[in-house]
Amino acid sequence: MHELGIAGEILSVILTEAARHEAKKVTEVTVRVGVLRGIVTENLRFLFGNLAGDTIASGAPLVVEEEPVVIECGKCGESETAAMAWECPSCKCPDIAVRGGDSLSIVSVELDV
Ligand SMILES: [Zn+2]
Repeated sequence: MHELGIAGEILSVILTEAARHEAKKVTEVTVRVGVLRGIVTENLRFLFGNLAGDTIASGAPLVVEEEPVVIECGKCGESETAAMAWECPSCKCPDIAVRGGDSLSIVSVELDV
């Protein structure tokens, strides 16, 4: 369950950010997670909520944006998929470039100062 470590990291980053701005409360957190990370969004939200319980981020919703994998095919152009691919999902040719899907970043933190 690596969601726990990730939830802890997110919390630690936003609490540092909140302290820097002398915020009274964290009201919303948005993160971007690539589908290749294999993170269960529900678990991440739940664990974050638990960990945040005793902090100023208590009750702040964690918004999770999923980043798809983008496959660039020489013939078909770009397409998005939810899993790693070794061939184009449309024409099955192996001549593709794969981008994205492995992000793990905090997009925004809303603070009440
Ligand atoms: Zn193709």
